[in-house]
Amino acid sequence: MPVSGLPPYDPTNVFARILRGEIPSSRVFEDEWALAFHDIAPQAPVHVLVIPKGPYVSAADFHASASDAEIAGFWRAVNRVAKQLGLDEPGHRLLANVGPDSGQEVPHFHVHILAGRPLGPMLARG
Ligand code: AMP
Repeated sequence: MPVSGLPPYDPTNVFARILRGEIPSSRVFEDEWALAFHDIAPQAPVHVLVIPKGPYVSAADFHASASDAEIAGFWRAVNRVAKQLGLDEPGHRLLANVGPDSGQEVPHFHVHILAGRPLGPMLARG
């Protein structure tokens, strides 16, 4: 069992299939380290997902197993996407679900970029 309570990487997960071009996505950015595309069920006016190109199930797995170059390249890509979308000035939220208690649905590490209106409290109460 890898870190973060998730099973080993499943190469048939939906984001792996997007990376391989087997299913479509609405791409906004791609470089050597990362791919960014619009979330299929947006929870804010701007809702983009940024994923690393390597096979990591979660943020915990990524930071434990990826090379320094992959980690730096990925986080620079997150920053570039936010800048490219014009989100630095109005602000935006970066969010990553990790493992069962977080409700992580897709077992390929991803960062949500949420923006486009005041986003309110970080978590719903309850
Ligand atoms: P999480 O709960 O953090 O694992 O988030 C997974 C996200 O992936 C959700 O916001 C979904 O709406 C999104 N999602 C699932 N399938 C797709 C897809 N084919 N294209 C774009 N986003 C997707």
